[in-house]
Amino acid sequence: MKIAFLGLGIMGRPMAARLVAAGHEVTVWNRTPSRADLPGARTAATPAQAAAGAEVVWVCVSDTAASERVFLAEDGVLAAAAPGLLAADSSTISPQASRRIAARLAERGATLLDCPVTGSKQGAESGKLVFIAGGPKEAVARLQPLFQVMGQRVFHIGGNGMGLAAKLAMNLNIALIYQGFCEGLVLAEKSGVSAGQMLEIIGATMLRSGVIEYKAPFIRARDYSPNFPLKLMLKDIRLMLEHARSLQTELPALQTVAGIYEQAVRQGLGEQDYAATLGLMERQSGLAEA
Ligand code: NAP
Repeated sequence: MKIAFLGLGIMGRPMAARLVAAGHEVTVWNRTPSRADLPGARTAATPAQAAAGAEVVWVCVSDTAASERVFLAEDGVLAAAAPGLLAADSSTISPQASRRIAARLAERGATLLDCPVTGSKQGAESGKLVFIAGGPKEAVARLQPLFQVMGQRVFHIGGNGMGLAAKLAMNLNIALIYQGFCEGLVLAEKSGVSAGQMLEIIGATMLRSGVIEYKAPFIRARDYSPNFPLKLMLKDIRLMLEHARSLQTELPALQTVAGIYEQAVRQGLGEQDYAATLGLMERQSGLAEA
């Protein structure tokens, strides 16, 4: 297929690279030109240039403002959208904003699927992402060959915005599971139990979780280089709270966790992985970081 891939960050780059390796004709665009090259792909100067003549536009950028820029700016996808164009947005953004973008594209005869992902950097590199899609069923079907290259499974939840609604609920779980792990670990460490011992117990009992399994090697090494940058988890937490407010729903535990992430960003940890909140909790409780 002729594909435009927009956004070559931690997730977008390996996703686009898998499409190239599968033999698709890929044109890439990235906001920062010095990171806009991908072996085997053409580079475009604007999202509109990348989208011109493409059958599919795939987007993976950081937040709602970035997605709106890529689709709706003067040199955005909308400017080049021809009837029949299929766009897939794997960015985690506001469901309401995604519906607005879908409506603008529909005016041009183009279709948008929100298809946020889970699986993080390792899932993107190994083609094991899970996509959570919202939008027309036929669009999901048309994209099957591409989902298969980048992922292991696609869940089609419902209409536009529904993939994002499910994704936000999932990331809420991740933020709370990880915060629960951090607090349990800090209490254990304060009592003299080591992080290694706790990780072993967690792995052998009903406390086992995919989140902690993924993070365990990084925690053992205290390696907080970004797989999922802390500032992006905070962006998601804000989206969850905003979405909950729009549904008159209280999320009291998440509200507390939001404060911890806000503090972590103020302390300059935003570019690190969200696992770095462990270091923050350890320092606050007077533990020397292992
Ligand atoms: P990232 O490494 O920070 O990459 C962000 C990408 O967005 C970069 O290409 C960046 O371009 C671009 N961008 C930022 N602001 C922009 C703007 N205003 N206009 C145009 N492009 C802009 O982030 P990532 O980890 O790949 O995450 C991408 C999306 O996937 C996010 O929505 C994130 O929440 C979601 N996600 C991430 C993970 C994960 O584990 N990392 C997992 C699931 C979902 P520059 O190169 O110019 O900065």
